[in-house]
Amino acid sequence: MSRKGNGTVYLRGLIELSNICRKDCLYCGIRCSNSKVVRYDLSDMEVLDLAQYALDNGYGSVVLQAGERCSADYVERISKLVYNIKAIKAKAAVNALPLGITLSLGEQTREVYREWKDCGADRYLLRIEASNPRLYNKIHPSDTPSQRKMHSYQTRLEALQNLKSLGYITGSGVMIGLPYQTVRNLEEDLDFLESFDIDMVGMGPYIPHRDTPLGQLALGSPPEGIPRDDGDFAGFSKEQRLELSLWMIRKLRARMPDINIAAATALDVLDADGKAKAVLAGANVIMPNITTVEMRKNYQLYEGKSGVKDDAESTKLKLERQMDAIGVKIGWFDIGNPGKFL
Ligand code: SF4
Repeated sequence: MSRKGNGTVYLRGLIELSNICRKDCLYCGIRCSNSKVVRYDLSDMEVLDLAQYALDNGYGSVVLQAGERCSADYVERISKLVYNIKAIKAKAAVNALPLGITLSLGEQTREVYREWKDCGADRYLLRIEASNPRLYNKIHPSDTPSQRKMHSYQTRLEALQNLKSLGYITGSGVMIGLPYQTVRNLEEDLDFLESFDIDMVGMGPYIPHRDTPLGQLALGSPPEGIPRDDGDFAGFSKEQRLELSLWMIRKLRARMPDINIAAATALDVLDADGKAKAVLAGANVIMPNITTVEMRKNYQLYEGKSGVKDDAESTKLKLERQMDAIGVKIGWFDIGNPGKFL
């Protein structure tokens, strides 16, 4: 096994800050057009309490994740939050407790990324979702010029380049088993992640959400304007999506031994032991959800998300049992940086 797949997994306490999003990605359950979603925004105090929980319980890192918003007020709010989490971290450093800060807040300008980094963010996750521009355009809305502009492949790429050049530990990832996707596309994804010299990867199976255009297509009832048969519709089965996800992890681990690869929670929708299988395939990061139970049910990018009724404590116990069963240690109180940042 590779150095990073050495029998230890590292944790990221996931805080789902808000499900409000300005975008309308065709696959996403919290896309702005989905009027069935009850929108929420955690208070700053709730976020800081969760960060403190992650620190005290040895998670080593937190991830602040939310839909994409770009207003000046929002940017400032995040800056203050990151700064205050960093203050928690500084206090903890006195006791030698680590707390990495990862952001997963979508595309922002270079200046905003710089500001958040200056406030104390260490890492940023921005999934490309599909590295093939044609496939990317198929899973994002493009009916109007403003939709095309907001969901531009080029902007996503530039955002990733900005993150890297600003010195973030940069993460990306893809969905596996999308409608229209081919195995060749997945090979292109592996090439993309390697040539970008990515530091962290979160990739998992595509799970359809019935309140989305792509979900309706995948589930057999495409809405108007979404063609099912355009010559390259693949329509992978659940079993194929699971197998392809594990295959992608194995391939990427062999090509990039020192990076962090997350075992996607979405795998658990396809197989109760999905995360454990991903770890055995080479994943070395798990992102337990520490968001309060009342809010978890409203943050469903895909349907059937596991653990929406669990609180942080039972999520932790389940994870310990799962990893124990496969003989893998959990790196409690370890920041778990990728190899080249050690
Ligand atoms: S995938 Fe992200 S950016 Fe797209 S609609 Fe969902 S939360 Fe918003």
